[in-house]
Amino acid sequence: MGFEKSEQFYKEAKDVILGGVNSPSRSFKGIGGGTPVFMKKAKGPYFWDEDDNKYIDYLAAYGPIITGHAHSHITKAIQAAAEDGVLYGTPTTHENKFATMLRDAIPSLERVRFVNSGTEAVMTTIRVARAYTGRDKIIKFAGCYHGHSDLVLVAAGSGPSTLGNPDSAGVPKSIAQEVITVPFNDVEAFREAINHWGTEVAGVLVEPIVGNFGIVEPEAGFLEAINEITHKAGALVIYDEVITAFRFGYGGAQNLLQVEPDLTALGKIIGGGLPIGAYGGKRDIMEQISPLGPAYQAGTMAGNPASIRAGIACLELLKEPNVYKTMDQLGEQLEAGIHKAAQAYNIPITINRLMGALTVYFDVEHVSNYEHAENSNGEMFAYFFKQMLKRGINLAPSKYEAWFLTTEHSEADIEKTIETVEAVFSNWDF
Ligand code: PLP
Repeated sequence: MGFEKSEQFYKEAKDVILGGVNSPSRSFKGIGGGTPVFMKKAKGPYFWDEDDNKYIDYLAAYGPIITGHAHSHITKAIQAAAEDGVLYGTPTTHENKFATMLRDAIPSLERVRFVNSGTEAVMTTIRVARAYTGRDKIIKFAGCYHGHSDLVLVAAGSGPSTLGNPDSAGVPKSIAQEVITVPFNDVEAFREAINHWGTEVAGVLVEPIVGNFGIVEPEAGFLEAINEITHKAGALVIYDEVITAFRFGYGGAQNLLQVEPDLTALGKIIGGGLPIGAYGGKRDIMEQISPLGPAYQAGTMAGNPASIRAGIACLELLKEPNVYKTMDQLGEQLEAGIHKAAQAYNIPITINRLMGALTVYFDVEHVSNYEHAENSNGEMFAYFFKQMLKRGINLAPSKYEAWFLTTEHSEADIEKTIETVEAVFSNWDF
């Protein structure tokens, strides 16, 4: 496979687009450099790049593309929206319909608001929690990504009783000092943080199933303990379900795990591939938001008919029988095949999988928190990634990301992927 055109386009991109990419995760910085591939067409589970190479795609645009690329049902909805006008600045019945679909699927969303990205959704849930409690501090879990607003680009202090430090230039220290970060799956560290800061904490921000240092599930009782301790301290539980909602079943991780938060942030899948975010929660809490309450949130593009109609079409597809069961079966087949190949060639891997999402970690035995994921071997992953790419398998360029299956991957795609993994492992020259 040649990449000459991608190399040329990347050179041109760097001359006009800062860093050559519009989101840093698209660069190959996380895998020690290289040329990101310029894709020109996508259909179902496949990509074609500018050099006409074909790939099986497991990036799924970092999660949203769960029904495969350019699904005809979603494409038709987008075309119909374009015909009818893409932006009104008035309410539409599409928003009523979609909000009702979301609430039917995730009952804790007693009231919903649409925004334009996961970042906005999370950012606003924090504002709501602060408005409702009259407190300022939030607690989050190490390694979880909640978008790029100031409040969540904060690194851990030296322990649960210390305040955070900016994790990005440009984030004021004063804002970082409103955030406490504790390890995921560590109830005692969380309890210590609440004991220390409890009366100042507005909300606790949780990815109920982590997607941002690979797929990491909560240990038994962890989420229940978070709920109990948080509520006892008079604070709110906020689930960031931007990755997890509609990923593991028709609804949120909260349905699957049967733990209910006070507020939920959504994004990615619910837009069917178009830009979207949404947040919602208990009615009395949501009533903090304007026009009913004193906390402000607005958006020229919020609830635009194109994103909403694409989202409705996407959820209609996901509601079909056996959708998640099939992705689970294919995920199981993929996991088993990768394991078998790794054993055959003595490649040290650990796989975390839930349904149609999985992460392959190198050189680490168990991953249940960020520190474990950090300790996985990034150089080995980078080598694996590049070998897979040049054999036509497109993964996310980071050891912290997941492989996402779609409803359009077939058994044959999975078999081909496993054969490719075998080819890479049997020629392992790391
Ligand atoms: N929350 C989680 C869990 C995410 O994974 C992401 C993005 O990857 C976000 C929030 C931010 O969403 P967006 O990129 O749509 O702003």
